[in-house]
Amino acid sequence: MALRFTSLGSGSSGNGLVVESGDTRVMMDCGFTLGDVKTRLERVGLAPSQISGVVVTHEHDDHMGGVARFALRYAIPVYLTRGTAQWLPPDFPAVLVKCIDSHTPFAIGAVSVDPFPVPHDAREPVQYVFSDGAARLGVVTDLGTVTQHVVDKLSGCEALVIECNHDLDMLMEGPYPVSLKHRVAGRFGHLCNADASRLVAALELSKLRHLIAAHLSQQNNKPELAVRALSGAAGCEPGWVGVATQGDGFAWRDA
Ligand SMILES: [Zn+2]
Ligand SMILES: [Zn+2]
Repeated sequence: MALRFTSLGSGSSGNGLVVESGDTRVMMDCGFTLGDVKTRLERVGLAPSQISGVVVTHEHDDHMGGVARFALRYAIPVYLTRGTAQWLPPDFPAVLVKCIDSHTPFAIGAVSVDPFPVPHDAREPVQYVFSDGAARLGVVTDLGTVTQHVVDKLSGCEALVIECNHDLDMLMEGPYPVSLKHRVAGRFGHLCNADASRLVAALELSKLRHLIAAHLSQQNNKPELAVRALSGAAGCEPGWVGVATQGDGFAWRDA
């Protein structure tokens, strides 16, 4: 069965991505209010009841802020590491909690989900590679540093969604307090355009058909800078690189 994917929105005000194979639809993160996520799902032609499971990367509000309410309202199972599960509300029903190991692949219906740990300032953060058994979609949206393990996991994918959080000069010259600048740029913060470019340059890209920049800071980055960084690393035309926006994410793509 074919694998396709869409973003409901990406950035520090809320993240959500949907991966579909056959009748299985996996949502990765939900940083939106209940009303907002419904509207965003409608925009991509989905109803909340069509989501088979929600996989969570880490507890930061822009990823997990809407997970519990959405999952509870529609009785959808939530997959997350034990460290991240500690941030679910205490009265969240245990029957909907699926604790995962950050190194062990699992399946949700027709979608294989391969989590991997990343350095980020959260309790037990992971990112994911999704597959239908044929094509692979790798997503990394919050990591401070590129590790060899991340490179190994993302190599050989058909589709990649890669964090391009900030342009380092824009961040350092911008309005953030010094402490926040250091947090964002630090080893457990977020990837800058140059880091993302180095990551892509280190990957095996022979099967790559989609390359999308994600989690762009609205204050400290510009889409054209992120696109230039990724296209330079991949050796492709800038017009071939997509951008996941905060407002609209990106439309369905066939992996
Ligand atoms: Zn984030
Ligand atoms: Zn985060």
